Amino acid sequence: DVKSHGKGGIRVFDPGLDAGRDWRLQIEKELAHGLEQEEFDVVYQPLVDAADFRISGVEALLRWPGRAAGPLAPDAFIEVAEGSGLIQALGMYVLEKACRDLHALPDLKLSVNVSPTQFSHPDFAKQVVAILRQTRFSARRLQLEITERHLIDHPERAHAAIAMLKRRGVTFALDDFGTGFTSLAYLQSYGFGCVKINRSLIGRLETDPKAGYLISGIVMMARGLDIKVVAEGVETERLARKLQIARCDLLQGYYFGRPAAIDRLKADVSLAGRSTEAA
Ligand code: C2E
Ligand code: MG
Ligand code: MG
Ligand code: MG
Repeated sequence: DVKSHGKGGIRVFDPGLDAGRDWRLQIEKELAHGLEQEEFDVVYQPLVDAADFRISGVEALLRWPGRAAGPLAPDAFIEVAEGSGLIQALGMYVLEKACRDLHALPDLKLSVNVSPTQFSHPDFAKQVVAILRQTRFSARRLQLEITERHLIDHPERAHAAIAMLKRRGVTFALDDFGTGFTSLAYLQSYGFGCVKINRSLIGRLETDPKAGYLISGIVMMARGLDIKVVAEGVETERLARKLQIARCDLLQGYYFGRPAAIDRLKADVSLAGRSTEAA
């Protein structure tokens, strides 16, 4: 309880905690309403091949443009959705919408984030298979991004869900690698096909030569284990070149493209296709 009795019967409470709980409840209410009113949207950020900077896939990212009280970052509202169970509906909304949207771009792979609570739901794998079937989206084009937290919470369930989906052709990426303690060997035991090196480590490459050794080390080990490496948060050409030299497989970041609506993405991809034909 946030309220407690201090010495001498003086009531001590923390208004900060109370305010935090009220905020949470308010956002939960807005989330439920927002789902009903279809206030959410999905945007797509390119992942490019590090060898030639050509787009090879996209990451789907959730947005809440219709929120009456103004914009809220996904990090913030997803955390609330996780705590309230709404993440199940929200997560499946993103997956279904993205599978439908990406039909228009059959050459691109699709990466979708999955939150820990969603992933540890006993029916998670079944639900994913159902959406793939409904949307007729090829399992081979789908990659699910999960974080280390997923594995630590329910290792057996994680193993079972990953195994079931992998049999159908879905691949898995470990998101935000380099922020926790997971080793690559551990990742391999789960069957991850890809690691995404966290933006904070990539950014350090600009100023700290040691970050370069770390990244090259990750790449070298990953290569031996048949795991692909994605660098997140590539904001400059200089950084892109460095990561190319470090032999990352894929690059993602504002330098190559910000998350954009599906129509923008379609226009950009067709423009890029035309310019190579013309060249
Ligand atoms: P994430 O999965 O690591 O996604 C990458 C985040 O980095 C995105 O933030 C993206 O916009 C941002 N980003 C990409 N390139 C750059 C760059 O060059 N510089 C900088 N500064 N940022 C860059 P976003 O869209 O705000 O999402 C934040 C987090 O919220 C995501 O991190 C993910 O953990 C979560 N999230 C977003 N959409 C979903 C979703 O549909 N489901 C779940 N479960 N989580 C989601
Ligand atoms: Mg991600
Ligand atoms: Mg990430
Ligand atoms: Mg993140």
